[in-house]
Amino acid sequence: MAPSASASSGRTHPARVIAWRSATSRGPAARASARDSGPPYRPSRAGGAARLRASSLPGGHGARRDPLPALGGALGTGVDRGHGRDTGPSTTAEEGTPRTIHPVDRRFVLEPFEPAYLAAYRDGRLAERVEAARAELASCRACPRDCDVDRLAGETGVCHVGRHAPVASAFAHFGEEDCLRGWAGSGTIFFGSCNLRCVFCQNWDISQRPAGPELTADRLASLMLELQDQGCHNVNLVTPEHVVPQVIEAVAEAVPLGLRVPIVYNTSAYDALRSLRLLDGLVDVYMPDLKFWRPETARRLARAADYPQRAREAILEMHRQVGDLRVGPDGLARRGLIVRHLVMPGLGDETEAILGWLAREVSPDAFVNVMGQYRPEHRVGTPDRAGRVRHGEIDRRPSTDELAAAHAAARRAGLWRV
Ligand code: SF4
Repeated sequence: MAPSASASSGRTHPARVIAWRSATSRGPAARASARDSGPPYRPSRAGGAARLRASSLPGGHGARRDPLPALGGALGTGVDRGHGRDTGPSTTAEEGTPRTIHPVDRRFVLEPFEPAYLAAYRDGRLAERVEAARAELASCRACPRDCDVDRLAGETGVCHVGRHAPVASAFAHFGEEDCLRGWAGSGTIFFGSCNLRCVFCQNWDISQRPAGPELTADRLASLMLELQDQGCHNVNLVTPEHVVPQVIEAVAEAVPLGLRVPIVYNTSAYDALRSLRLLDGLVDVYMPDLKFWRPETARRLARAADYPQRAREAILEMHRQVGDLRVGPDGLARRGLIVRHLVMPGLGDETEAILGWLAREVSPDAFVNVMGQYRPEHRVGTPDRAGRVRHGEIDRRPSTDELAAAHAAARRAGLWRV
């Protein structure tokens, strides 16, 4: 999800950068039409279980749409260079194995559905949140770094992001979990910069500093609508922890212009509770990546010793807001929590602790993606000033046995939607 969890853990996919067009260039009807253009869901014959298999859908697994023509850098320099980002790929222990959603249990079907933000728009809560979001920027504690800087005045803190949100790329993503990518892709918006400093980040070139043009709320809203117009099933905000206020401003702009797809909040889980409470009733799908269990590991690998505690608090709050993942009859995610966990080499005990906590404290029905695609990146394996290899203990991929042990730990914990 990495620069957030997502970016630091993701397998690279070729990106397609969306062209930016005016939000007013199309009406709500056209947007609704684009949204509903997917094929009907067909239950699998095998067991009659409801599954959404990308391989059986038009274009097949991993297929992607042709990119829209770039509009001469309308997003500004940097965005149209096509970052090969992934937000935390959807594979099982064997990398490259497409992950299918678990057979749909009636308890986890949500129908009818409308995005949560519509009710917030109608009853005025969304407008109130915009005011609160702007106030947050004036003395920023939007994430656990608690910088207390005035971002409205252009000051910056640990994330290096001021008034507006930098967007590194945006495109229909076909590497996400099946319930997100469906047949038309997940509409990912990759924000530049991050509030973590993961030494293994696979998107380090956009996570360590703001990357891409800084978009005002109306331009970010336009981008959301453009992804919806493409037919994407959702708007997937990748590494949004440090731009929550700006996201709220943009959603408020996009809803009256026709935004109707669910918002996916794709995060490292290093989120402030105050920001999550601002998002309550606006986000339908939370997708945190729970990375570490021990503070010392988080300090060493992400420069955030408080990460485990903050992430656990954040995930409990996310679950309180949206509950376990529920899907539509088409198998697409509608509302709920999707937890990712990247298996790291040599950290099997932390994996076991994390999965046990999820089953015990969050829900045995939690939808969990145990990811096996870690690879050494960024600072891992590079020499320090003395010529010693940095982070040599994670300078390898996890072994087959380690991945199998992680899945066994999930089963032992009682997690079944894995
Ligand atoms: S969002 Fe950025 S400025 Fe605000 S507290 Fe977090 S790191 Fe600091």
